[in-house]
Parts: sequence; C-alpha cells; structure tokens
Amino acid sequence: GQTTAAQQEAVEDSSHNGLTGAAYSSRYKSILAKRRDLPVNKQRQGFLDLVHNNQFVVLVGETGSGKTTQIPQYMVYDLLPQVEGKMIACTQPRRVAAMSVAQRVSEEMDVKLGQEVGYSIRFEDCTSSKTVLKYCTDGMLLREAMSDNMLSRYSAIILDEAHERTLNTDILMSLMKTIALKRKDIKIVVMSATLDSEKFQKYFYDAPLLTVPGRTFPVEVYYTPEPERDYLEAAIKTALQIHATEPEGDILVFLTGEEEIEEACRLLSARGDELIRRANCGPLLIVPLYSTLPPNMQQRIFHKAPEPRTPGGAPGRKIVVSTNVAETSLTIDGIVYVIDPGFSKQKVYNPRVRVESLLVSPISRAAAQQRAGRAGRTRPGKCFRLYTEKSYNNDLIEQTYPEILRSNLGSIVLQLKKLGVNDLVHLDLMDPCAPEVLMRALELLHYLGALDDDANLTPIGHMISDFPIDPQLAKMIISAADYGCTNEVLSIAAMLSVPNVFLRPREAQRRADQAKAEFAHMDGDHLTLLNVYHAYKGCTQPDKWCWDNYLQYRSLKSADSIREQLRRVAAKCDIPLVSNNFSSPDYYPNIRRALTAGYFMQVAHLERGGQYLTIKDNQLVLLHPSSVLERKPEWVVYNEFVLTKRHYIRTVSEVRPEWLLEIAPHYYDLSSFPPCEGKRVLEKLALRNAVVGDKKPKKDRSEK
Ligand code: ADP
Ligand code: MG
Repeated sequence: GQTTAAQQEAVEDSSHNGLTGAAYSSRYKSILAKRRDLPVNKQRQGFLDLVHNNQFVVLVGETGSGKTTQIPQYMVYDLLPQVEGKMIACTQPRRVAAMSVAQRVSEEMDVKLGQEVGYSIRFEDCTSSKTVLKYCTDGMLLREAMSDNMLSRYSAIILDEAHERTLNTDILMSLMKTIALKRKDIKIVVMSATLDSEKFQKYFYDAPLLTVPGRTFPVEVYYTPEPERDYLEAAIKTALQIHATEPEGDILVFLTGEEEIEEACRLLSARGDELIRRANCGPLLIVPLYSTLPPNMQQRIFHKAPEPRTPGGAPGRKIVVSTNVAETSLTIDGIVYVIDPGFSKQKVYNPRVRVESLLVSPISRAAAQQRAGRAGRTRPGKCFRLYTEKSYNNDLIEQTYPEILRSNLGSIVLQLKKLGVNDLVHLDLMDPCAPEVLMRALELLHYLGALDDDANLTPIGHMISDFPIDPQLAKMIISAADYGCTNEVLSIAAMLSVPNVFLRPREAQRRADQAKAEFAHMDGDHLTLLNVYHAYKGCTQPDKWCWDNYLQYRSLKSADSIREQLRRVAAKCDIPLVSNNFSSPDYYPNIRRALTAGYFMQVAHLERGGQYLTIKDNQLVLLHPSSVLERKPEWVVYNEFVLTKRHYIRTVSEVRPEWLLEIAPHYYDLSSFPPCEGKRVLEKLALRNAVVGDKKPKKDRSEK
C-alpha cells in the first residue's frame, strides 16, 4: 500500500508493536523521540512521494542524518513485508556496519535482533523466517542473486554507501537495472553521504534525487607544519595532548587496521594512565573499532565517556580508535575531536603481475573532508590532520578510484557467469572495468578449470562458485578429494579465512615465537596452521589454552565455525569427506598436492642469489618473517603477496616441481614461459618424464 508520513507516524505512536503484537517498551518510546528529530524524518513525506512514483530514487544526506537506520523502516511501513511476504534489504560495504546498524534498528523497532530485523554477512547469518528487514553486506546480496536471479524474495533493495563504489556495490547497481526492467514491482533506493549525484541519477535512468540537508557545526582544521615520520606515534601524542589541554568532548582517531589499532589502544591506555596520575586529567575510555571485533565489543563505541573521578573533577573522555568504518558508515555522537593521519587500507591490483594486495595508502581529499566532518556532529569541533596543508593540496587525489578498477575480478566474474551474465564487456557498469583486468580474471578461471575453452562454466566452476571464498581456495578443497584429504584441507581453508591466529605482543615477542615454534611443521605454514587447528580441537579449555599459547581465541573459534560451513558446502557438492591414514608417508605430501592444485599460479622458485622469483611473473620476493620456514625450499607455493617497501610472500609451503607439471600441465606449459632458473629446472624434469615415458608417479590413494 502507499502510506503517508502521517499514517506511518501514527503507527509508530500506537501502543502496540504491529510486528510482534507486544506492547511497546519505554525504551522504544524514548528512542522514538530521538528518531523524530533526525533530518530524514523531516523529509519523510517527500521521500515517500518519490518512491511511490519512481522505481529508482537517489538519496544523498550528511552522515548521521538517519539514512541507514530510518529509510529502511519507512519502506517497511510502506511495503508491509510481514503481510506481503517479501523482505526489504539494505546493503552495506562493511560487515561491522551491517551488524551494528541491524542491532540499533532492532532496538528502534523494539524486536529481537535476528528475528524481525536481522543481518547477514559472510559466514554469519543472523536472520529468521520472521525477518522483514535485513541488513547485509553487498557481497552477500550478490551471492543471493546467484541462486535467485530476480531477487524475488525482496520487494525493495536499498543500496547504501554507494559513494564508496565497492566492487560488489557497482555490480549490484548494474544488476538492479536489469532486475528492475523485469520486475516493475521492486523499489530501489540508492543512498550515500556525499556523491556525484548527477552521475548516479543519470545511470539510473534519470532517477529523482532527494537531498537531506545535514545539521553540522563548523570544524576547525589543523595541519602539521612538517610531515610526520611515524603517524601512529603522532596520533597517540595528539590524542593525549587533546586530553590534557582541550575542553570536554570525545576523540575519534582514524587508523588502518586491527593490529595497528590494538597497538594504539595499548599505548594510549598505558600513557593515559600516567597522564591521569601526573597531570590530574579525567579518566579515559579507550575503544577500538574494526571489522573482526565481536559484536559486544563493537557496541562499546556507543558507551558514554566516563564520569570525573571526583565530583567536579576533570571530565572523562572517550577515545575511539577506528578504521575508516567510522568515516561515513557509523555515526558516533559526542565526537568533538578528529585525528586524521591520512591513511587507510586500500585494495590495489596489478594485472600485469596478477597481484592483489591491501596496501596502506593515502586517502582522498573527499575522505579527508568526511573525516573532519565527524568532529562537528554535536557542536563545533576540531580536526587534526597529521600531514601538511601542502600535502593535502598537492598529494591527495580528489576521489578514490572505484574498486572495480583496482581489484582482481576472478571471483566476481565467476559469480556473474553463475548469474547468467556472459557478456561482461558489455555489462552496464557505472565505470567499465579495464579489459586487461577482465582478461586476467577469465584466464585465472580457465586455468582453474572453472571455465571451458568457450568461457562457459564447467561442473567444477559451478562447484567453485558455491563456496563463499576465493576461487583458488575453493579449488583446493575440491581437489583435496583426489588426494584423499578433504578433512585436513577444509581445516586449512578455514584457518586461511580468519584473521591471523598468532599473537605477538610487543612485550612478549620471544615467548610468543617459542609458543608458535611448538606448532611449526617443517614443510611450511599451511601445515603449521593445521597443527594449530588440531591442537585447538583437542584441548579441554580452549580460551585458556589459546591464551597460554599466544593464539587468538576469537580467530580459532571463528575458524571452527567457518570450517563447518565449508564442510556443508562440500557435502552439498557431493565432495567426499575423507582423510588419509596418518601413518602413511604420503599423509602430508598429499595435503600439499591439494594446495598446489588450488594455488599453482602462486608459486615461487629460489634463485641462486638467494631470493625467490614468482613463477611466470618474475617478481622478486622474500619469505615473510612470520613464516615458519627457516631453510629456504627450492619451490614454494604461497597464499598471499604482501606489498610493502619490499615484496613478501606470506603463508608459504614447500612443493615439489614434478607436482607442478603433473597437477597443472596446462599452466606449466613451458613454451609459454618467460625464461628464469625455475623454467630450466622444469624443462629438465619434463624432458626426463618424456624419456621415462608417460609414467606419472602414482598418487597414494590406497587408504581412502
Ligand atoms: P546515516 O546513515 O545518515 O549516516 P544513521 O541512520 O546511521 O545515519 O544514524 C542516525 C542517528 O542514529 C545517528 O546520528 C545516531 O545518533 C543514531 N544512532 C545510530 N546508531 C546508533 C547506536 N548504535 N546507538 C545510539 N545511537 C545510534
Ligand atoms: Mg549510513
């Protein structure tokens, strides 16, 4: 039905919850009063008029104006998913945002999280048959579209944070255009903080634009006179200085990732304690925020700053240390000071050498402005940029490039194939992807056996696309069946899908390294991860055991749950779940053969100079210092290429050159190889094989 804003408000003001039938709580009523004050609420009727008369609506509004929390609720009142049986989805580029917002909206609607309002992120589905409003990552909705091409379970799709231009959102936008042509009943709202709204309007067939004016206060911006050598240190110093000298108000510090953020929080709390003692400052609440933080820890960003230690004493302060999720996705009220070192982790992809990596890179001017804006939410604020004004003007680019231009497209191309989108070049994208990048993706999938010579999905390709992980990792699991070790390889795949399990606190590095050495496997890091997983499964008090062994309990717990999910996908694909006999000499080699079957395109050869050269791409790389490999095996397979000042390969295991020829002969076709020492070794091997005849070494499959 088509509701008016007045009708919606009347429903909100009633005594009972229309979704559950229960009487509204007093908490509900107090939150409702705050919601009524949000800028989007002032435009509710205008918004409803637009969605009633248009299939696509573009909505731009300042961060904190109520887009993400309110607009989906207006759609619920309008489309009545509980009656019509079709849900409303709101996508987020980041998992933390999806979880946190779903939590908030469940409180606003006075329902239990996971019931009427839920969220869905990779490896975690918190929804039920009652769910009417679902927050999900853009990647999850895309995955759903693979099995339900018309997204027939939904009556409205809200694409949020569109200005971020993530790969998944770009693809979803294109998909929504196709779906909208066939489904006149579906509504699509595209929302963002700031954006080139004209470009979006034009892309969506001249969709109307609703602008929600924000309520912001002026923010004074300060620059450092000289470039900072160590931005982490500078950020900590600045935060403590603010605490010591500036009036009341919370601080938001932008850093790039989990390890850095945890480190900053430790240092802040140690030095903060000293400051409080020495200078009689108020107490501090220091809160980290990053994507892998468990939900209850994420909620701490909304806690109030601590009270003064004595009545009338120096005020307490909250310091939130966050990734750029706090840039536009989450609004933390009460922030008055922002510290912006000018960096974030960004995906970079070099198709020439097929390397995708997360790199700490300078942010754009648009992002810097967003960050500064976070200081002016509740009253005038200050933003401290830890770079020079000259650098802001000359070095920062205006806008970050869309992710589609700097990603490996392997996984997305496979998903699109599954969706039946064959002609990728002519996919109607807001910014077309580079032909070379597309070619690399098709090449990868072809080598993996996911696409045949005509670029059609093969049965293996179908299986690979069923796994919510990188195609190579999926191929590794599927191939493990040939080597009788799916059980072990599933565990390794799960361990590769969680944040680093090994802790190495600064003050206990030696002890941490010793603890890790207990798990080390001489053949490399993958089998070391397997050892850790097995030991974890065998211990009686997992949390204490992890603590004692310098392992991240949270990561291991999540590896366990991911393993179960991957196991279910494998079972669905009829992949036998098997292990070799542990006493067989081929127990470990077979696992490494399976690794090779997935990652034969990520192999490096030790050159005489003592450095590794990646095969075919000829990149000089070093073993990452975290590797358990002390000797340098001649041939290694690696999981990750780390781009820093030097190039490293991380999570590395030894492989045999004859496996390369045997397992991936199409890739190790030596006629197409650039010259390198590794090539000569392989040529000799190939020659010997040819002389001996085509007698390939028999795999040990007797114990299956
Ligand atoms: P937008 O999407 O436009 O940036 P949101 O809908 O995310 O805005 O947030 C609107 C307002 O809701 C915020 O200004 C904040 O006051 C409030 N809010 C959102 N999440 C929470 C939360 N978890 N706890 C308390 N308040 C919240
Ligand atoms: Mg939002």
